[in-house]
Amino acid sequence: MEVMIGLEVHCQLDTKSKLFCSDSTDHHGKPPNADTCPICLGFPGSKPKVNKKAIDYAIMIGMALNCKIAERMWFSRKTYFYPDLPKNFQITQYEVPVASDGYLNVGSSRIRIRRVHIEEDPARLVHMGGDITSAEYVLIDYNRSGTPLAEIVTEPDFKNTKDVRAFLQKLASMLEHLGVYDSSEEGSLRIDANVSIEGGERVEVKNISGFENVEKALNYEIVRQNGMRRMEVEVERETRHFDAESRTTKSLRKKETEDEYGYIFEPDLPEIHINGNWMENVRSAMPELPDQRVARFVREYGLTDYSAGVIVYTDKRLADFFEGCCRIYGRPAEVANWTINYLLKSLNWRSERIGASKVREETFVELLQMIDSGEITERYAKELIKEYVDSGESPRKIVGMEGDGGAAPLEEAVAKVAAENRAAVEELRAGKGEVMGFLIGRVLAETGKRGDPKAIREAIMNYLNGPEAGMPR
Ligand code: ADP
Ligand code: MG
Repeated sequence: MEVMIGLEVHCQLDTKSKLFCSDSTDHHGKPPNADTCPICLGFPGSKPKVNKKAIDYAIMIGMALNCKIAERMWFSRKTYFYPDLPKNFQITQYEVPVASDGYLNVGSSRIRIRRVHIEEDPARLVHMGGDITSAEYVLIDYNRSGTPLAEIVTEPDFKNTKDVRAFLQKLASMLEHLGVYDSSEEGSLRIDANVSIEGGERVEVKNISGFENVEKALNYEIVRQNGMRRMEVEVERETRHFDAESRTTKSLRKKETEDEYGYIFEPDLPEIHINGNWMENVRSAMPELPDQRVARFVREYGLTDYSAGVIVYTDKRLADFFEGCCRIYGRPAEVANWTINYLLKSLNWRSERIGASKVREETFVELLQMIDSGEITERYAKELIKEYVDSGESPRKIVGMEGDGGAAPLEEAVAKVAAENRAAVEELRAGKGEVMGFLIGRVLAETGKRGDPKAIREAIMNYLNGPEAGMPR
């Protein structure tokens, strides 16, 4: 069965102020409708002004997605009535998006990017006593109104939902690496998923948050459309809504076409010219991207492409966590193994992302050191890690080993570690700096990880220069 899927991804850009006014985009601890002004409430006579940061961010996204950047562009009014849109039109880009004709490789597939454009987010509707199809009444919060969005539109290049998932993860990781989006903000990435089968009409499932939900919505649609085909009922072009509770999609409306929105040029905003200088400034501010980071992980830490990919494409914070652990504990292969095969599984099982979890570099490393020093068996560690992810407690505390006797004095611990690892000490003496991390890790394990790696490094150097170091093996 031939499946075709195309995505429209709306990413809230993490700017301080809104797209066309200076209201804050940070509404934490504020009541609904606190961050509003005549511009984002669409009062007659109010005049929008473009936030340049949002354009910078969109150019960055375009570059990272291998797109062509428009040299000149403008904004348009997309006209429709809906309570979340007080002006009766949304300021968006239609004829000329900021970026177009790019691609993103996921695994062995290349997904073409049709366009990236900038638009304003409408207000947030809160459906009371039901969902969008059944609510008794609706509340409107205009705090969100005017938040900058980048809409990323793919060509219908996906043939299965597995690739969709991989694409979304990689894209989100990329956006996080670019620093243009805050993944901890709920609903900061919202997806419209278009799907057709066997060359039939396509159905658009609108406004899905969460990658798992995108997959569920698409799987449901594929089964539904396939069923219709078998019963020889024609699939009509329509817009549907995904209901996360029943895991089904429901019809919202027969799909309108783009020209029905009656786009017109936005006369209150100037045409924007993106010259070479502007492009260069953005390009030079581009941070390391996921693909580059994967290559570096392979080079620097000796990971396989596969492991590096899992760590970097799953989540930027997972990649940061991995590097943080390696700084404390110089055994990247072990960090990667336990991260991918056990930590990530426990997190996934809890549907939790590392940034929102109780997992910390210091405590995770402690667990690895306990395995390493033989304090616990690997088999036991696999059980322990679940409890650790649950509670975030120090693994040593969970096991009940901590507390008695306190930490060994640093010099004593260094001497003990050195005596147990003569070969490593010799390598270090011979100038192989790489073993330093390993020795520090050992000393940390000895001292109940209370040591400061810098102080330990010093103590190890002192030891090397001291009389004891010369002891016969
Ligand atoms: P509209 O202008 O109505 O939004 P577009 O042609 O711009 O429609 O496409 C919107 C999205 O639908 C894009 O992500 C595109 O990849 C996807 N799409 C287009 N044709 C198909 C199809 N036959 N099957 C699945 N998705 C499709
Ligand atoms: Mg569309």
